[in-house]
Amino acid sequence: MVNVGCMKAIQVSRTGGPEVLEYTDVDAPVPTDDQVLVKVTMAGVNYIDTYYREGMYHTRLPFIPGNEGSGEVLHDPQGLIAPGTKVAWYDGLGSYAEQVCVSRERLVAIPEGVAPEVAASMLLQGMTAHYLTHGVAQLGPGDSCLITAGAGGVGLMLTQMAVAAGARVYSVVSTDEKAELSLDAGATEVFRYSDNLAEQVRRHNGGIGVDVVYDGVGKATFSESLEAVRPRGMVCLFGAASGAVEPFDPQLLNTHGSIFLTRPTLGAWIAEEGEFAMRAQAVTQAIVDGTLRVRVTGIYELADAATAHSDLQNRATTGSIVLRVAQD
Ligand code: NDP
Repeated sequence: MVNVGCMKAIQVSRTGGPEVLEYTDVDAPVPTDDQVLVKVTMAGVNYIDTYYREGMYHTRLPFIPGNEGSGEVLHDPQGLIAPGTKVAWYDGLGSYAEQVCVSRERLVAIPEGVAPEVAASMLLQGMTAHYLTHGVAQLGPGDSCLITAGAGGVGLMLTQMAVAAGARVYSVVSTDEKAELSLDAGATEVFRYSDNLAEQVRRHNGGIGVDVVYDGVGKATFSESLEAVRPRGMVCLFGAASGAVEPFDPQLLNTHGSIFLTRPTLGAWIAEEGEFAMRAQAVTQAIVDGTLRVRVTGIYELADAATAHSDLQNRATTGSIVLRVAQD
């Protein structure tokens, strides 16, 4: 099928602030044989979308942002997936649009009873929480961790998965409302950024640092993350919500007690054969059986993508947020 015609989309023609997210008409995409054409219902909004928009992560201009969403299959060139099948995906860019082409292997069926906004937010953040707790570190009973931005999209899912694995979770947030959400997700103690984190952690954690620090805030928290981990523990720097960490001397890993540092990406942790399917299945199953609650706290119209990005970067959101592209 050749898909002719236009569709509404958010397009970025020059990198910059939220104002470069332009709601406009573009050509509808055409799937290759490995792809499926999907009608988008909801597009997930993630912090990584702001890195692409600002040009911190590079892609060719112009581009349509958005790596994930939920919707229904319009056309499968190989005829393997029936039109109308409800799906969610995590794939390349292009989801802030009425239609997107998705690799067949990056689609999952939406389980019965899972709302489209939840389906649109579950894969990127959920699989990230999964590889952070079951891959980068393999948390188990007796382990402890510190999570920055504990009430964010990844933060709430990471907290729940760490707790489900048996670990004790300390988190850091900026407001009382966020503290409540973090506690509700299972955190034992919630700190503020102004607290001396290393001291707070040791006070609550039997006098020693945590086994793992999960730091998605980056520049503003990184040096405290090094202080808050126990000797031979791991600092997992997985994001840069406050900006990129400055270059630093690896000798610091020695002086903090032979600690490990990793800077992982989801792409590398779903790259092996069967890994995407395994993590996606773990996430959807956890949602279905109720052990993972995905909190979608903001649904913005597609045309209001700039407001969604501003809110996310102004720390005004909690949990996950999505763009509504079509009525379900
Ligand atoms: P969040 O919903 O967590 O939003 C970002 C949060 O970061 C804010 O709500 C805020 O929470 C906190 N924050 C702290 N300092 C700042 C600051 N200066 N400016 C803005 N926010 C700040 O976003 P996501 O869940 O989408 O992503 C969280 C992090 O995880 C990001 O860094 C993202 O890049 C990373 N990530 C990494 C992946 C990987 O594989 N490496 C995959 C997915 C996400 P508070 O007000 O409580 O501080």
